[in-house]
Amino acid sequence: MPSNRRWLEGLAGVRCDHPLARYTSFGIGGPADYFVESAEPGRLVEACSRRGIPYLLLGAGTNLLVSDLGVEGLVIRCINRGWRIQGTRVFAESGLKMMRLARICADHDLRGLEWAIGVPGSVGGAVYQDAGCWGSELRQVLAMAIGLRPGVGRQEWTPVDLELGYRTSALRQGRLRGAVVEGVWLELAAGDGAEARRRMAALVRERSRTQPIATRNCGSVFKNPPGDSAGRLIEAAGLRGEREGAAMVSLHHANFIENLGGATAEQVDRLIERVKAAVAEQFGVALECEVERVGRWPEGRVS
Ligand SMILES: Cc1cc2nc3c(=O)[nH]c(=O)nc-3n(C[C@H](O)[C@H](O)[C@H](O)COP(=O)(O)OP(=O)(O)OC[C@H]3O[C@@H](n4cnc5c(N)ncnc54)[C@H](O)[C@@H]3O)c2cc1C
Repeated sequence: MPSNRRWLEGLAGVRCDHPLARYTSFGIGGPADYFVESAEPGRLVEACSRRGIPYLLLGAGTNLLVSDLGVEGLVIRCINRGWRIQGTRVFAESGLKMMRLARICADHDLRGLEWAIGVPGSVGGAVYQDAGCWGSELRQVLAMAIGLRPGVGRQEWTPVDLELGYRTSALRQGRLRGAVVEGVWLELAAGDGAEARRRMAALVRERSRTQPIATRNCGSVFKNPPGDSAGRLIEAAGLRGEREGAAMVSLHHANFIENLGGATAEQVDRLIERVKAAVAEQFGVALECEVERVGRWPEGRVS
């Protein structure tokens, strides 16, 4: 609609046909029709929804495979990064990085978020996925998320409302689809900040030993099936080092796909499908993606 186009083009700081690769940890992604950075993502989500404009929220872009054909409508990169501490409760806005929040908490002698030093995503992306590692998950420290549900208004959500589960939530797969997280309250424990920093340093060392963190990737591509590890299955299927163009199953950790330089979303997607097919054929296990495909995909593929 022309009036929607006028509205989009009138947004402060908006860019048209803006390439997204630089905003994703994969370094892959075609252009957004419209792209804007905002410290008030809720306001834009509400406006887009009212106008019937498709939108995509972008945090740190560390769990996305963005199509080479780009993304329809408005991509809203969340840059609301405020935080405050009240005793053992911490408020963080959704654009703040989890790694930074982990350091802030340690610097304030709070314990319980050390694991987040391994999650390069934003607070909003962490809620969407119930991010976690080394046996800890966001839901264990999340008291409440505050967000906006288009057409309904601002709401507070407990972990139960959010239906947080292993790398999923009602935002990703349920009744809160399309809603935006604006901030969270975490409940942590008072403790020794120096000890928290030592623990984080140890976790970072462990991660660099076991994962290809210096490469362009999206973290774990697949969820671990119950009682097993996706990396183990992929390795056992002989797929380590397997390639599609410049996309490769990591030699370092088989549940990672690396962009060796110039890989396309199409190549990564083909590699994902090959891995799924091989693991299903050899072990009868249906791997489920942890990474999320977004944007315009060739006909017949669900984004
Ligand atoms: C090297 C590496 C290691 C990783 N290790 C881990 C790990 O140990 N554990 C783990 O859980 N994950 C891990 N990840 C994956 C990733 O960091 C997490 O899934 C993270 O939570 C994604 O956050 P993000 O801000 O990057 O989200 P994005 O990739 O930007 O977006 C992911 C989804 O979240 C939605 N979203 C983003 N912000 C909001 C918001 N404010 N409101 C509503 N929806 C929103 C987006 O629309 C999108 O659908 C890793 C990734 C990398 C690259």
